[in-house]
Amino acid sequence: MRYYVLDRGDPLSINLAEKFHKLAAERDLQLDAKSPEIVISIGGDGTMLHAFHTFIDQIPNLAFVGVHTGHLGFYADWQAEELSTLVDYMAGIGDIKPHKPRIVQYPLLELEIHKKSGTTSHIALNEFTLKGVDGTVVIQIDINDVTFEMFRGDGICISTPSGSTAYNKSLGGAMVHPSIEALQIAEIASINNRVFRTMGSPLLLPKHHHCDIFSRKEQRLLLTIDHNNIPVDDLISVRCQVSDKKISFARYRPFPFWNRVREAFLV
Ligand code: NAD
Repeated sequence: MRYYVLDRGDPLSINLAEKFHKLAAERDLQLDAKSPEIVISIGGDGTMLHAFHTFIDQIPNLAFVGVHTGHLGFYADWQAEELSTLVDYMAGIGDIKPHKPRIVQYPLLELEIHKKSGTTSHIALNEFTLKGVDGTVVIQIDINDVTFEMFRGDGICISTPSGSTAYNKSLGGAMVHPSIEALQIAEIASINNRVFRTMGSPLLLPKHHHCDIFSRKEQRLLLTIDHNNIPVDDLISVRCQVSDKKISFARYRPFPFWNRVREAFLV
């Protein structure tokens, strides 16, 4: 089994990563930075986002496991004190069964950003957001190549099902089970009065639909893809759709999505 570990960089996460390497060496797991089969993220959800973007080109060939060093994370289901159990599972030793993890796959968001200066492609695990730098943004939203609405406000958030519990939730969006291949459009403080009108409620688009966001004035914008910020002053449009690629998580024990939601937000 080839593995790689990415930690958050704080003393506790660094210490756990070192412990993981030691345990892994004792169990003949091979550290492989180039083509790991399993990538362990030690830290929080932000660390998993970082791990995802680090290995974005190898997404079809590997699976992620999250170890959290703070509160329960949405992408991190192992606790620090369970590290040796996790390594035992990965090495397939001891009485622990089953040794083969269940691979759980979550949908991703595909983005094509068209600027006057060129086009770039991206993939998001949580969400894409578009916000104004100097105040109100003016954008046109098309769904399946038909104009849907003209939006004025702070911005827009397009999230994946697994990202629906993050920024999208703060915007009043619905939490979506990651077995549903969809993207969600949620408004960030839209202006709604007798002159300007937006739908005002979050929308879910299925996999075979797409939406385009057109910049409708000269404006400085801040685009975010998960934790990454991209300032843009020459945006033409952004195409958003559910990606054909999926992220894989190696589950050595069950951790159902709704249990995670309950534990994160209610108990
Ligand atoms: P951060 O340190 O500001 O963390 C934001 C929080 O979001 C953390 O508590 C993290 O655990 C949580 N989070 C991340 N992904 C999650 C998910 N899929 N479900 C539930 N909670 C999740 O920033 P970061 O660690 O770099 O993470 C970036 C993420 O922060 C973005 O992808 C965005 O979703 C989130 N964010 C949220 C808000 C908001 O809720 N108002 C604003 C900005 C960014």
